[in-house]
This record gives sequence, structure tokens and C-alpha cells, in this order.
Amino acid sequence: MKLETIIGLEVHIELRTKTKLFCSCPVKSDVSANTNICPICLGHPGVLPVLNEEAIKKTLLLGLALNSEIGEISRFDRKNYFYPDLPKGYQISQFFLPLLKGGFLEIENDGKRKKIDLERIHLEEDAAKLLHGEKGESFVDFNRAGIPLIELVTRPDLTSPEEAKAFLEILHLVVQYLNVSEAEMQKGEMRCDANISLRPKGEKNFSAKTEIKNLNSFKAVEDALNYEIKRQTLLHEEGRPPKTNSTRGFDEKKKITVLQREKEESHDYRYFPEPDLPIFEMKSLPFPLEEIKNSIKELPLAKKDRFIKTYDLLEEEAKILTSDLALADFIEKIISEIKTESEEDRRKFVKLATSWTINRLWPELVKPENFAEFIILISQNKISSASGQKVLEEMKKTGKKPSDIIKENKLEIIGDVEEIKTIAGKIILENKKVVEDFKKGKENALQFLVGQVMKETKGRADPKLVQEILRNFL
Ligand code: ZN
Ligand code: MN
Repeated sequence: MKLETIIGLEVHIELRTKTKLFCSCPVKSDVSANTNICPICLGHPGVLPVLNEEAIKKTLLLGLALNSEIGEISRFDRKNYFYPDLPKGYQISQFFLPLLKGGFLEIENDGKRKKIDLERIHLEEDAAKLLHGEKGESFVDFNRAGIPLIELVTRPDLTSPEEAKAFLEILHLVVQYLNVSEAEMQKGEMRCDANISLRPKGEKNFSAKTEIKNLNSFKAVEDALNYEIKRQTLLHEEGRPPKTNSTRGFDEKKKITVLQREKEESHDYRYFPEPDLPIFEMKSLPFPLEEIKNSIKELPLAKKDRFIKTYDLLEEEAKILTSDLALADFIEKIISEIKTESEEDRRKFVKLATSWTINRLWPELVKPENFAEFIILISQNKISSASGQKVLEEMKKTGKKPSDIIKENKLEIIGDVEEIKTIAGKIILENKKVVEDFKKGKENALQFLVGQVMKETKGRADPKLVQEILRNFL
């Protein structure tokens, strides 16, 4: 039996706002438990929520960047359920009128691009965090309660665990590019529930699905889905495919999913409109939507394509450079420093800048203009790449300009051919055995001699020139 896999994701992302969604408590991690709290986010009776404008802006920004549609009106609703991390007994969420509907995110998997359609994007408050002790005791940290949380739901468009992982990776990068969230998964700032079902190929109806809850790393999503495919395939082959929807957890150590509950129908959250917050009309928002539209920056895949096209980079180089916005900005600043008429020089400069940047990832350590000067010196052969390593180390340590470092440490390349010839002659006399080997046809022997000359010059010679001189001598 040929089966096909159907996956949909539900992603929660904490927003990087200054304050929480309905109160003025700061949004900050790395503080002691239960310090960023107030009567509003603790759900005391009689308090009223006040909506955070910045959270609306960031949600709209992400939605617009993902081509979602903004409705005419939006509203918050109460999602009622009891749990110790939810002091009010309900979560203020959006059910009937989400901020954004539809849209898509383009992913790249195995060199192929694919648009994954979105169902909706809405805004809600995060719940508190439960911590469980070793003796079975539990603690509640309310710092997280009330932090603005985006919920993004995809259509069931994903067909493999690899695609699901690719979707999350690119989404993660997009929210970082837009400065919507840092989305650090290990801190729980981005969390994912994955829905998965299998059905015989050609079958139109969906089978019962499994929802895997609270996956908090790309790897966990991929592993959990792979396990679920194996488990459900077996059930199909045994002629007893899942009949009811179920919720499962993922055991990361054993790499298996574990049944949490099985249900005929979805949980009844008794959604109803939040009476303490007004309906808001999109055309009368306190800020112009145009302003948000104009602040959408170039997204990662578009940037990658442009890097390949404009700078003539390899796919892999462009991928690394765009995997971090700071790095991408850094390399572009460096490239903008090059002033040359010749296309060939420009190309050479970009190549060098790319490889030096990729290999060492300097953005937070070195000023772009210093780095650009450094690349110019390398490309003009003013220093050898061996000296280059030393210069970079010094730039990192002292923040000085490369030209000053080179002067102070006498790292200029030896331009005087006679000087290199003298040293090469000396090395040849000192290594008679190696010279014999070379004459017998051992190419490696020459490399050894080049190495000796480089050592003698403390890395200040151009290895190509050294090799040429040695070869002429021999
Ligand atoms: Zn508060
Ligand atoms: Mn939610």
C-alpha cells in the first residue's frame, strides 16, 4: 500500500515587545522567577487588560511579510480551560476574527522551492511556565504569563518531516529578520505542535490525525514526525488505521511519541468575545498600515537569490551569509567599501571578503570598514594570507586599523625578489637530502622547501613567488 503523509503545523512565537500584551510588565528573560508580574498578568479579580500597540504592529508586520490578508475588523476572545499556569481560568486569544488570514511562506528543501499556505495568524497571551521538581512538586513562574504570543497555523501542505523542518527554519529566520522575535527555541520563545496523518495515495478524505504537542527544537519536530510516520504506517498495513484524532507527546530521549489523550471531537473551549476589550477596526488603527508595509525588509530567500546574482556567490556561500541578518549586513557593508572600475577586481575582492568572512564570522568583532581595508590589502598582495591571520587576530583584540597593525608588527609582504632569492638559496643548501628527493621527482619535497622559506620569512612572503624562485633554482 502506497501511503502519503500530510502535515500541518501550529507555531507559537513570543514577541520581542518592551512590555506584556495587556499590562506594563517588562518582557525580559534572564530574571528571577515571579519578578515581572502585576495584578493584571496574575489575573486578580477586577483588573482590566490594556492592549499593547507594539504587539499588534509586530503581528501585522509578520503577517504582511507572509502575504496574509488583514480583515476589516478583529477582536479578542476568551478561551476557557483550567490549568495551574492560567490564573484567570481563560486565555485571551483570538478565535472568530483573527488579525490575519491566509498567506504563504516559501520554503526551500533539497534545492526545491515550495509555497506553504497559511490558515491564519493571530495574537494571544502566553501562559505562565510550570516547573517540575524531582520529588514531584511543581512551581509556577508568572514572568511568562501575558507575554504576547503569535499563533501561526499552516494549511496541511507539508508532505515530509524534512519539509516541516525547512518551514520552521525559514520561519525562524524570517521573524529574526523582521525583528519580531528572537525566537530562541531552547528558551521556549518558539514552540511547535505538529499535526500528522497518513492516507493511501489517491484517497481524497483525510484520515484521523495525531497532534504532537510542544516540540521545542527543529530536530525534535523532525524526529517526532519520523517516528509517527513509522507508527502510523504499521497501523495502516495491519488494516487498522487510526479512527479517532489523538494528542501525543514526544519523548526526546527515547525518540518516541506517547499517547496523551484520544478524542472524538475537539476540546470545547467555550470561546466567547472578550468583554473587556473593544472590537477594533483596521482602518482606524492608531498607526498607518502603510508604515508597517514599508518596514518589511528583504526576506532571507530573496536576499540569498540576490547575493548569488549580484555578487556571483556560490549557493552555499550565499546561504551561510544570509543565515544571519547581522552577517548579511556586514558583508554588504564591506562590499560597498570597494571602489573599483574593473569588474575583475571587484569580483576578486568579493570572493576574498566572502571566504574570509565565512571562515571566521567576524561581524561582532571587527568594524566593516577595517575589514574592507584588510580585504583590499590581501587582494593587492600587500600581505600574505599567513600574515593576514595575525592581522585579523590583532584587529579583533585591539580594534586597530589593519594598515597600522601591519606597520607596527612589520608584516608587509617581502616585495624584494632578491631578498627571497637569498633566503631560498640558503634553504636549498641546508636541505640537500630534500633537494635530491625533488630531483628524483618527489613533488612534495618542493612544498617542504616552500614551507621552510615561509618559516624563515615569518610568513611574510608570497608562497607562489617562493615556489617559482625555488623551482628556477632547482
Ligand atoms: Zn503584568
Ligand atoms: Mn495558542
